[in-house]
Parts: sequence; structure tokens; C-alpha cells
Amino acid sequence: MSIKIKNVNYTYAEGTAYEMHALKDINLEIPDGQFVGLIGHTGSGKSTLVQHLNGLIHATGGRIYFNGRDIYGENFSMKELRSKVGLVFQYPEHQLFEIDVLTDVSFGPKNLGFPEAEEKAKEALRMVGMGEEYYRRSPFELSGGQKRRVAIAGVLAMEPQMLILDEPTAGLDPKGRDEILDQISRLQKERGITVVLVSHSMEDVARYVDRIIVMNQGQVRFDGTPKEVFRHFRELEEIGLAAPQVTYLMQELKEKGADVDTDATTVEEAADAIENWLRK
Ligand code: ADP
Ligand code: MG
Repeated sequence: MSIKIKNVNYTYAEGTAYEMHALKDINLEIPDGQFVGLIGHTGSGKSTLVQHLNGLIHATGGRIYFNGRDIYGENFSMKELRSKVGLVFQYPEHQLFEIDVLTDVSFGPKNLGFPEAEEKAKEALRMVGMGEEYYRRSPFELSGGQKRRVAIAGVLAMEPQMLILDEPTAGLDPKGRDEILDQISRLQKERGITVVLVSHSMEDVARYVDRIIVMNQGQVRFDGTPKEVFRHFRELEEIGLAAPQVTYLMQELKEKGADVDTDATTVEEAADAIENWLRK
């Protein structure tokens, strides 16, 4: 499963006084199995971009290829695209509506006509760390983090090849946030599926992803490994994004004369770098 975005532009309310050029000439390629963090401050175009990937929004210019096939081409099935690219919206728990957790999660695979919808739902719930004891609970009596996990399971149960999560940790406390990110990370490794994790926080995603794409005002500003992207921490600040705290710490140590490797992006890597320096 790979996606290629070529010269994609999108304008909301074109030709009206409210016209908004939300995506400006986006070019990206996401290969199979990659874990991507899509970062940018509010209004930078993240949600608009990811809604193109499962065909919910039709580009006003440019092309998108799914496994090499033009999704706007004549014989392309948008229905198939939507079943292969699972999109979990921001605050997805607002879309929980069934009487109990298992029924809710079974809805998607049933709707797709999967023969073993309930089995798929159980498997999806297992993947997000929710066992049998939750099957008959009402989604509405769960905690915020649990509701979010049920909503993610609802998309996973449709067995997408690519999973897009739009700000999956928004509004959760640190514990709920870490739980969700750990589950997603495990899932990505276990299943080898392509994951696009949308976030406005660098710190949240840095430790998990292979690649960070930074958006600003509808354009891709940086694209690389977390280390490559965080080297631009001063420019990131200019567009209202901060690199992880440890990036600043290591930079400060370096400026004060310590011969440390400043590339650390997680606390663990920073500890190693400091230890190496102390041993020298
Ligand atoms: P993000 O997800 O990064 O916060 P969005 O993709 O939601 O950014 O928004 C990009 C730009 O498009 C913003 O300026 C936003 O105000 C505008 N926008 C988003 N949705 C709509 C809409 N339905 N109608 C008009 N403008 C919109
Ligand atoms: Mg958004």
C-alpha cells in the first residue's frame, strides 16, 4: 500500500468571499509500512490533507495515486479506497452510538459485508487493549481514553491497510495520551500497516514515528526523520512549533562547552549522549 500525492491543491469555498487556499502544491509519497507524524499548528492544513487520502475531499488541483492508480481516474472505486484507508477523526467518540462496545465496533465490518464481523471487532478491541469485560458495556460510561480506543477499534475492525488518526490524543490526560500512542505504536509494529498520526505536538510523536512531515500555512515545510527535522528547531519555533524539550537541553549543554551529540530526540537518547560525553 503506497500513496503518492502530486501537486495537490485545495481551496475551500472557491470563488466566494470566504475562499481559503488550504493546501498549496503538496507533493508527498508515503511508502508501505511507514509510521508518519503529520505536524503543524491549528489551521496549517493537516485535516484537509488527510481527508484527501481516503477520498472524502476531492483535490481542486493535482493527482493522488493509491498503489500507482489515479484515485480520480475513471475506473477507480472510492468505496474500495475508503475500506483500505481508515480515517479516525478528531474526537471520534462523538460518533459512538451503539448500545454496547462490541455492537459499535462490529458496525463497520458488518457494513462492508465482512462475513465474520464480530470476530473482526473482537480482534480490533484486543489490539487497542480492551478485553471481553468491555464487550457489553455502554460506550458512554467509559473514560475519555477508553472511548477513544473503542472508536479507533471501530476503524481497525475494517482491516484498513493504512490508518490515519487525526489528533488521536486531543483532550486526553497524559496517561490516556501515552496509552493511546503506545497502542498505536505496537499495532503499527505488529501489523506492519502504514500509519499517519496527525498532531500539533512534536514531543508527542517524536519517540514513535519514522518520519515527520511539518506543515505550515498549507505547505510542507520540513519532511524527514525526527532527528533531521529537529535540527531546524529555531525555524520550527518561528512557525509556532517547539522541538522536544531534550533538543533544547542538549543544545544548551553544547553551547556551554559540553562535547555532546545534540541529535537526541527522546529522554533516553539524551541520557545516552550525556553518558557518552561523561565517559570521554
Ligand atoms: P488543521 O487540521 O491543521 O488545523 P485544517 O485543514 O482544518 O487545518 O484547516 C486548514 C485551513 O482551512 C484553515 O485556515 C481552516 O480555517 C480552513 N478550513 C478548514 N475547514 C474549512 C471549511 N469547511 N470551510 C472553509 N475553510 C475551512
Ligand atoms: Mg485538524
